Amino acid sequence: MEIQFLGAAQEVTGSCYLIRVNEHQILVDCGLIQGGRSDEDRNTHDFPFNVNQIDAVVLTHAHLDHSGRLPKLIREGYQEPIYAHPATRDLCEIMLEDAAYINEKDTEWKNRRRARKHLAPIEPLYTREDALKVIPLFNTLEYNHKKEILPKITIRLIDAGHILGSSCVEIWIEENGVTRKLVFSGDLGHKGAPILHDPTPIKEADLIVMESTYGDRLHRSWESTWQEMSEVLAAASQGGGNILIPAFAIGRTQELLYLFHKNLADWKLENWEVFLDSPMAINATKVYAKYWQLYDKETRELIKKSGSPYLLPNLHISETPEQSMQINRMRSGAIIIAASGMCSGGRIMHHLKHQVWRNDCHIIMVGYQAHGTIGRALVDGAKEIRLFGETINVGATIHTVGGLSAHADQAGLMDWFSHFEGQPHVALTHGETRAASCFADLLYDRFAVHAWQPKKGARVDLLTMKIDG
Ligand SMILES: [Zn+2]
Ligand SMILES: [Zn+2]
Repeated sequence: MEIQFLGAAQEVTGSCYLIRVNEHQILVDCGLIQGGRSDEDRNTHDFPFNVNQIDAVVLTHAHLDHSGRLPKLIREGYQEPIYAHPATRDLCEIMLEDAAYINEKDTEWKNRRRARKHLAPIEPLYTREDALKVIPLFNTLEYNHKKEILPKITIRLIDAGHILGSSCVEIWIEENGVTRKLVFSGDLGHKGAPILHDPTPIKEADLIVMESTYGDRLHRSWESTWQEMSEVLAAASQGGGNILIPAFAIGRTQELLYLFHKNLADWKLENWEVFLDSPMAINATKVYAKYWQLYDKETRELIKKSGSPYLLPNLHISETPEQSMQINRMRSGAIIIAASGMCSGGRIMHHLKHQVWRNDCHIIMVGYQAHGTIGRALVDGAKEIRLFGETINVGATIHTVGGLSAHADQAGLMDWFSHFEGQPHVALTHGETRAASCFADLLYDRFAVHAWQPKKGARVDLLTMKIDG
């Protein structure tokens, strides 16, 4: 029995782990590598396993860095079940089709350029047709229910509090009379975040595969985050321009709407027109509304008091490209929430083109920005950015409201870890090297645990609990 680290190894995106036990092979997550072009090109590489030998996939949550290569897996012949929470299935239905559409468009554009150079056309990573074929393979599982998915392989999903349906996965495997329990943290939520529950603690594990995105950082307190948000809105209001909020369609957008609803008066939001400019975010919000049973107590109470947590009196929904383009006519007073969250595609790109050069524009970054993305460049203070083949000066003021992260910070990770009993083995993944190293040091100081930071391709023999690579 062994586990092999195939993605999110010494980097944040591309989560993918392969477990071999008895004659079976199961994947945990099958995520897309995100970032700059050279990173994303790696998505086209062959899978480092035989697709026909995979017996099951367990999916922690719908974010593309965990789910985004499932259509590629299906394109290459995968026909077995995908185990996940029902909300993850619903969100994947939205996300994967969108990812496929972007891929098709991107390939069309590349092929036009290639044709001019007399180069042969390339195939998209996958098509919308492939993405649609993923959905019937879902075999959904509620939180806290054990299920034997294959002989001697049992799983249970635990609420990770990161996005709707997000799960930590417990896996019990048995081979030749030896049982091991693996725990995959998936992405862990930020304690106290709006809408969802806090991550659920787990007590037992032989090996924990744990995310470390913010292993070297503490988020601001919620109080100071709210204060910051209200100050940014006030500053933007005085400047007279518009506000752009690049936001992930799933999770962050619903949190923003919830917060705007809750703080409408305090943040003087009546003075603004709020545009939700993302068909995907609109659909995702519907899925969030469907699973209200998964909300925390505070959100349920807000619903009782004032109805849907996502509705605002001044909210405009832009479904069509025409509606989206009309927003560009507004010179001031618009808050535009559009995907993608890292400015690596989507409608936010057009808004950036129209606004980023303006001195009265404010951009509020509310999520993690991967290396190589325009979002990261803006946060790092770039004076100019490349958009649609043009170099555009950055006149806008960039604000990072880091406290809104959907990920646990160092203290949150530590808190989640502290509930484990005994001395489990730990593999830190889903973090840049610095973040993972910093968290590994802390684990050693506090718990005398030697955490591994596996390289891509590294294996742990689960019988001897020794790492190779
Ligand atoms: Zn995630
Ligand atoms: Zn992730």
